[in-house]
Amino acid sequence: MSLKYLSILLTVTIVFSMDIYSGGKLSLIQNNMDVHYYDIHLTVDSEKKIIHGYVELGINVKDTTIKGLELDLIDQFDISKIKVNALMSSFSHNNNKITISPTSLVHSNTIRIYYSGKPPEANNPPWGGGFSWESDSLGYPWIGVSCQTNGAHIWIPCIEHPSDEADSVDLFITTSKHLVVAGNGLLIDTTADNNQTTWHWKTTYPISAYNINFTIGKFQLIEKDLNLKNPTHLQYFVLQEYLEGSGYIINEAEKYLKFYESLFGAYPWSNEKFGMVQTPYWGMEHQTIIAYGNNYKIRKPGYDFLLLHEMGHEWWGNYLTVHDWADFWIHEGITIYAEALFIEENFGIDAYHEFFKKTVRSKISNNIPIVPKQNAISQDVKGLDVYYKGAMVLHMLRYLIGKEKLISILNTTLHSEKSLSHNHVSTQDFIDITNEITSEDFGWFFDVYLKKKDPPKLVIKNRWKTKTINWENPNFLMPIEIETFNGEIVKIQPGKRKIKNVKRVDPTQWILFN
Ligand SMILES: [Zn+2]
Repeated sequence: MSLKYLSILLTVTIVFSMDIYSGGKLSLIQNNMDVHYYDIHLTVDSEKKIIHGYVELGINVKDTTIKGLELDLIDQFDISKIKVNALMSSFSHNNNKITISPTSLVHSNTIRIYYSGKPPEANNPPWGGGFSWESDSLGYPWIGVSCQTNGAHIWIPCIEHPSDEADSVDLFITTSKHLVVAGNGLLIDTTADNNQTTWHWKTTYPISAYNINFTIGKFQLIEKDLNLKNPTHLQYFVLQEYLEGSGYIINEAEKYLKFYESLFGAYPWSNEKFGMVQTPYWGMEHQTIIAYGNNYKIRKPGYDFLLLHEMGHEWWGNYLTVHDWADFWIHEGITIYAEALFIEENFGIDAYHEFFKKTVRSKISNNIPIVPKQNAISQDVKGLDVYYKGAMVLHMLRYLIGKEKLISILNTTLHSEKSLSHNHVSTQDFIDITNEITSEDFGWFFDVYLKKKDPPKLVIKNRWKTKTINWENPNFLMPIEIETFNGEIVKIQPGKRKIKNVKRVDPTQWILFN
């Protein structure tokens, strides 16, 4: 490969990863639009690595005096025509935006977009998203799509913003007749035509664009009726080579689902299914069809991290969704905290603390505040702090208010009536609920841990046999535990007074500080 070619390739990769993102500030036109329905008809050609077909969107327009429509779709695709309410419409397509100028708009519109092209290939799925065109060990195509960070506009026209959820989706994927397509919701039917089969999946639950998903492979289907709070059908699409182990993973799935139900209430999508599909990348929380690429690996002290994590997102991320990527820690931090609670329930409180000491703390880098400025793009919340510092915030909140109140805050956040549609929340909602349930004001706590990059600084001064312990920031009110040489653990409020007989500060490691 010549150096010149390499530098072009690098430029393309960098441009793709920086420019293709989700979220940000909605334009006036997109703020006026609500995509409530996607009807997706795409053929996936695994030999040419292209997709072609059309997507029809049901779009409600709030104010019909605001002219025009704007949708997101990356420039790699060629759009052949666009129909608005069955009439051909003029449009332009550049900077990954489709700008449509229909002659007239009404409140409820259907926009049909015909397009084709080569979707981006995933360079580091699921984080560096795109299509994964893989083969299984028998040589059959095995195709996955992941697009949480880059957004669903890498394969369908949509409003690429976390605030926009559709009420329902019809997904028609056509591919080689030897293969199986796993998708969201219920399989309505399959239609064979020569060498191809069309798989029609349908969901009637609200869904984020990045969660609309399919995986293609030579799958076997394993099914089980689960005895959850509501009867729920489990489907697992697995490659032949991983059939052994499928019984084990289904039992694990049932156990984890029951755990989440005991904590956060009924599995949200019982009318459709709990689904898992084996993917050529690690995993993603695609609603009702979790991407599972963990190959049954067990994490200490004895559970499948990936399955437990992606399943947790069915409550935190899918059923409840943030309105702005700035609040993404609510999806990831709470799901990691739920993992800690799973460890506590199954392996005991010492294992819970061990998880924070060994796993959680080692992954926190304090690079950026975990809640950045509003109207964030997906790239603003990259990295592990939204996961692990987010979980640490809940660990510290538990130290302050106790486990029972923390669980009550989480359930109120999850199930209370929201001012935003589709169970959308913000960090401020979470803070308001915490203050309401505790009848206190934890602004001092959330300001430091969510909105500032650096943890608070504890200043310890030794004076002969005594110590003085102070927070550098006098407005930071966190009490701290002290272990004395007598083996006692006492909680103190840092301040000027001298403390004798101090062996260790924060012996249980409840608190994140410098
Ligand atoms: Zn996650």
